[in-house]
Amino acid sequence: MTELTAVNPATGKVLANYPRMDAAGVEAALQGAVDARTAWALKPAHERAALLRQLAAVLRGRQEELAVTATREMGKRRVEALAELEKCAVACEYYAEHGPGFLLDVPVATEAARSYVAWQPLGTVLLVMPWNFPYWQAFRQAIPATLAGNTVLLKHASNVPGCAQALEEVFRAAGFPEGVFHNLPVGSDAVEDLIADPRVQGVSLTGSERAGRAVGAAAGKALKTSVLELGGSDAFIVLHDADLDTVVREALRGRFQNNGETCIAAKRFIVEDSIAEAFADRLSRAVTDLCTGDPMEDGTDLGPLARGDLRDELHDQVQRSVAAGAVCRTGGEPLEGEGFYYAPTVLDYVEPGMAAFDEETFGPVAAITRAADAAAAVELANRSRFGLGGSVWTADRARGEAMARQLECGCAFVNAVVKSDPRLPFGGVKDSGYGRELADLGIREFVNAKTIWVA
Ligand code: NDP
Repeated sequence: MTELTAVNPATGKVLANYPRMDAAGVEAALQGAVDARTAWALKPAHERAALLRQLAAVLRGRQEELAVTATREMGKRRVEALAELEKCAVACEYYAEHGPGFLLDVPVATEAARSYVAWQPLGTVLLVMPWNFPYWQAFRQAIPATLAGNTVLLKHASNVPGCAQALEEVFRAAGFPEGVFHNLPVGSDAVEDLIADPRVQGVSLTGSERAGRAVGAAAGKALKTSVLELGGSDAFIVLHDADLDTVVREALRGRFQNNGETCIAAKRFIVEDSIAEAFADRLSRAVTDLCTGDPMEDGTDLGPLARGDLRDELHDQVQRSVAAGAVCRTGGEPLEGEGFYYAPTVLDYVEPGMAAFDEETFGPVAAITRAADAAAAVELANRSRFGLGGSVWTADRARGEAMARQLECGCAFVNAVVKSDPRLPFGGVKDSGYGRELADLGIREFVNAKTIWVA
């Protein structure tokens, strides 16, 4: 195929075709990223930071148009796309303010006259990004990587070619020099060669476990550093003393925001027996009341899934779970009519061994598992291959915090929905990947921590 095709998931109709970059284009982009490197790396960090402030302004100036592009290409609600763009702008400002400080030399007392760690850019970093937060996922890697003095090549998901193009445009409009951020409209078949290319020094992937294994293997083969932010199956533990009004409201948000297509969505609701029935009942009623429809409309709670194959996969997981004994309280099937809509679903009595427990469900499906007590809840939460996030809901904060520390994941929250925040590191353990994004640790992933010793 010579084109990347954007399809509107709300209608199933083709929006536009974008030419794929040919081999000569890829070669020019790679060379452009190398040519831009030296001058970019030599710029003082505060000058690169100043461009981030301009980037925030460009994003805010174009947020309506950019949001509509995302909604049309991947189906997220327009209001959520607007919020995503604001989050990108805030992250630009965060790194503009704090990033230069993260890059300061760190003196270390030794017998040398001077010894310290200097953070130097690696060169060019390849970003392989997904469609679910088509701006944020790319931004949260591109901002620290470029601020550290690297140049960046973006291979975005094939179903959001308009967002990918817009990303390159906003960097250019903000005044980033040519070659610092380049979009490569190519398919995933191009990724292994890009990683192997000597002009690329590292790769960051956000996406599925399958893609993670492929990118991690290619990076290992080429001896390149990598960050993998993969799927999750976050536990949302509800203890008997939690306030049900709050918990049901936040469970709804934690699972169904972004059409349920979020790596850190609450996916497994692990509830103490004594309140499980009340929780399941109230959550099911709230889910039945969700308004599914046109993601452009402000009154819509849930839009379509991003692609038809993703909806098929989700339905298959629901069907396999029900066949294995889960009880479908509401939803459980694709919605008829145009577009890739799926009825918001609650599965009850989900247990280990069922698809909704063992696999990542990427869509509007909440799985409820009953636990005898708090200790059993933690044990169930950790009985997952994934380890991205998790949350504990209880009136006893200290107990919640102790449980949060026992969760095998990269980010554990007490009485709050798991989210990424530029001020805090983000990433997973187990099959959710490795490496960290955001905060100071995020900027350290694609730098050479160079020891300098002056005798
Ligand atoms: P993918 O992992 O396939 O796509 C993510 C990115 O990786 C895209 O840019 C894709 O390119 C690229 N990619 C895919 N396969 C390879 C490969 N073998 N080598 C190199 N790059 C590759 O996700 P899908 O869109 O297919 O979604 C499938 C599932 O992945 C979801 O149901 C969900 O479980 C999970 N997912 C998790 C996300 C997260 O935030 N952690 C985000 C998105 C998906 P291309 O689009 O051209 O194939």
